[in-house]
Amino acid sequence: MSKGLPKRSEDYSQWYNELVKRADLAENSAVRGCMVIKPYGYSIWEKMQAELDRMFKETGHTNAYFPLFIPKSFLSKEASHVEGFAKECAVVTHYRLKNAEDGSGVIVDPEAKLEEELIVRPTSETVIWSTYKNWIQSYRDLPLLVNQWANVVRWEMRTRLFLRTAEFLWQEGHTAHATAKEAMDETMQMMNVYAQFAEEFMALPVVRGRKTANERFAGADDTLCIEAMMQDGKALQAGTSHFLGQNFAKAFDVKFATKEGGLDFVWGTSWGVSTRLMGALIMAHSDDNGLVLPPKLAPTQVVIVPIYRGEGELESISVKAKEIMTELRKKGISVKFDDRDTHKPGWKFAEYELKGVPVRIAMGPRDLENGTIEIARRDTLTKETFSLSEMSIGEKISSLLEEIQNSIYSKAFQFRTEMTTEVNSWDEFKKVLEEKGGFLSAHWDGTSETEEKIKELTKATIRCIPLDRKEEAGKCILTGNPSVGRVYFAKAY
Ligand code: AMP
Repeated sequence: MSKGLPKRSEDYSQWYNELVKRADLAENSAVRGCMVIKPYGYSIWEKMQAELDRMFKETGHTNAYFPLFIPKSFLSKEASHVEGFAKECAVVTHYRLKNAEDGSGVIVDPEAKLEEELIVRPTSETVIWSTYKNWIQSYRDLPLLVNQWANVVRWEMRTRLFLRTAEFLWQEGHTAHATAKEAMDETMQMMNVYAQFAEEFMALPVVRGRKTANERFAGADDTLCIEAMMQDGKALQAGTSHFLGQNFAKAFDVKFATKEGGLDFVWGTSWGVSTRLMGALIMAHSDDNGLVLPPKLAPTQVVIVPIYRGEGELESISVKAKEIMTELRKKGISVKFDDRDTHKPGWKFAEYELKGVPVRIAMGPRDLENGTIEIARRDTLTKETFSLSEMSIGEKISSLLEEIQNSIYSKAFQFRTEMTTEVNSWDEFKKVLEEKGGFLSAHWDGTSETEEKIKELTKATIRCIPLDRKEEAGKCILTGNPSVGRVYFAKAY
């Protein structure tokens, strides 16, 4: 129940953890850092998957599946890749257990040692490029546009449900191209697909940008990203799209016969979004009463709660409710009629508020007499009495859901605008970061040293170099050295 949910203003982090658990989204598991995604949480993830999958297919990609295990030697083939991932790899060394001779239980059988140790994939570039070597011979085999839905493991030390877990679910696109330009266009296209998904479906405004060399994916020449702002003023990297150059083609010797009759290494990209998006969705819109879901991703968009005394009243309300459900379903709206007699209407109201169901319809005997229903919006917590003779209920709810979707987006957009501050001196930088948070738009001299120094001093990192930034000569916020444009700094999840 929503009663007792910690307040965002008092303890944002506690509020988030409690909300995830009480709204039945996920819980911690026996293994530290891993989570159980509960049915309600998983059904939101499925809605995300379905839309993303549709968008990937519309842009020409097809799904495939590659193995969970990667030979250890594969990982080391691309030098910066292994350096980036080595610190968080889970390694399989044995393939059998046996009973201990002293009867103390089951132990690893020392005789069942693998000849070559296996890595549980932290990402699949290496296994996929070793396969692409066999799939690509000529320019006719290109472009190769593959996506996979999978789980990956990164042994993270500081974990938090959805936002950063040791095992997470994601999709990873891996494409191969004949030219650098084609690969760069793909990198850009997929970043834009992510941005469009975040904005249209998650109602989450994002900054489209480029990572600095420090924050780039291990093994990429360029990383594009989308960055979102959470309600506590911290940023969240919501998706990445990498231009891999010819790095993995060279590491795995993937060459193709060019149109011109030569032989060249293939150009690559990879791109991914994960169950972290669930965390973004929760953190961006929800309130002290519980989850607020954008209608386009809500597993149930409308719930009808009958208010009755005795079987007779319930029966006549049910007849009307079923008519309404038929109308709504015709419009493609997902609707549930909660006629359980095990819970009181007040309990149900609180429960659906906690679960973020966008629209609640309540119907009592008086409504039945008057031909009315009560419609309540989750996002604004406002209620109205609607007369069923006014207009078709299907149209009414359709347009209401659209209005809610837009209004959740506008609210998040306005918040992000308020939380983006141009700062022009080091004192101002520290003050805004401390007192307000959010994105700090500031000049930077372009060096990794300065970026690291700022991180050390303030914990703020460069989230991205916005793609739409103006060329503007200025002076670096820390060193005073020349800068050609502003970048976005923030504390981040
Ligand atoms: P990367 O392969 O590092 O570019 O990450 C791909 C996507 O997975 C990005 O959108 C990240 O935000 C997300 N991600 C990275 N690490 C984690 C993690 N430990 N838990 C959940 N999502 C993650």
